[in-house]
Amino acid sequence: MYGDGTTAVNAGRPPAEKYTPSLPGPVFAAYYHLPGEPAGPYTYGRDTNPTWTLLESAIAELEGGGEATSFASGMAAVSAVLLSLVRAGDAVVMPDDCYQTTRMLRERLESYGAEVRMVPTTGDAVFTALEGARLVYLETPSNPNLDTCDITRVCEAAHRAGALVAVDNTLATPLGQRPLDLGADISLASDTKAMTGHGDLLLGHVATRDPGIAEAVRLWRKTVGAVPGPMEAWLAHRSLATLEVRLDRQCANALAIAQALRGRDGVSGLRYPGLPDDPAHEIAARQMRRFGCVVSFTLPDEASAERFLGSLRLVGQATSFGSVHSMAERRGRWGGDAVPPGFVRLSAGIENTGDLVADVLQALAASAPAGGPDHVP
Ligand SMILES: *Cc1c(COP(=O)(O)O)cnc(C)c1O
Repeated sequence: MYGDGTTAVNAGRPPAEKYTPSLPGPVFAAYYHLPGEPAGPYTYGRDTNPTWTLLESAIAELEGGGEATSFASGMAAVSAVLLSLVRAGDAVVMPDDCYQTTRMLRERLESYGAEVRMVPTTGDAVFTALEGARLVYLETPSNPNLDTCDITRVCEAAHRAGALVAVDNTLATPLGQRPLDLGADISLASDTKAMTGHGDLLLGHVATRDPGIAEAVRLWRKTVGAVPGPMEAWLAHRSLATLEVRLDRQCANALAIAQALRGRDGVSGLRYPGLPDDPAHEIAARQMRRFGCVVSFTLPDEASAERFLGSLRLVGQATSFGSVHSMAERRGRWGGDAVPPGFVRLSAGIENTGDLVADVLQALAASAPAGGPDHVP
């Protein structure tokens, strides 16, 4: 058993043969020469691609085994799971506090005749919603509120009730937690975020150890055509080599920022699953190996949050997370999340810890209203 860094740097690379590159470049092909019997592995560009094959074997290895299918975006992966496995008359249990675009699929599922039961990520509501369910969809830690649920416990109960369990693992990545090892049938993610970390591509994946689910998900990709571009797949694979070093720095930075913000005037609702007294910590510590790069907290109002964001020099304003560049946003600007107007989601990048903490603290001081507690005349 190798360490995470060793696994990440080698994952999915072909055997070292003389005169071949470490990672073959992207294969740009709409079709492959295919005389005679139309058998695989490479038939048509929407079905299979050698660049996907290598990336998918890397992702499957990081997920701890099984099969991975790569998609054009995180939402393509989310939709593949929810829409390929659920049929009219089925019941789906979903978090009411998960990624907001995922929640938009509720209406579509209902329009197709499925029953959708929305429950919070924390607490026991998920257990009372299981009866007769076909699929339980989890997101832990949740985006943006950073709540957790016990994956193993939910899987045991869901499997007893005859339901499959899928976990959106975007925030953690497989080096933060491995849902399949914890009992989930499906681990899926937006690889746009921490998994690839450079903010230059959109991609997603679905991983499973169940060949039937893998086949359904691949057929879904083929029929809706939500295929990744070869260039994106290659860039993603290249980025996986540094996954461990990126995550370790990002998680250390997130923890340092959380510690620096704790107890400060004007900061409330500070959340980071890695803080020992965080409400998510007990469960997170049981099932996560790294606590992620996202910290959230609430400033007194919209104006202070905007002053804070505008005063940051090293932290960009953008709506994403997991990048090597730190970024933050006032989440309430989108509507759709149950968060106060001053709620800030901050994603720690790989800048040096001291620089980042100093920047966050100077921006916090600058965010205080003139004449307020932090005002220095
Ligand atoms: C961003 C995100 C998605 C969607 O991913 P895209 O790559 O933007 O399509 C899904 N789930 C979570 C938790 C996310 O943060």
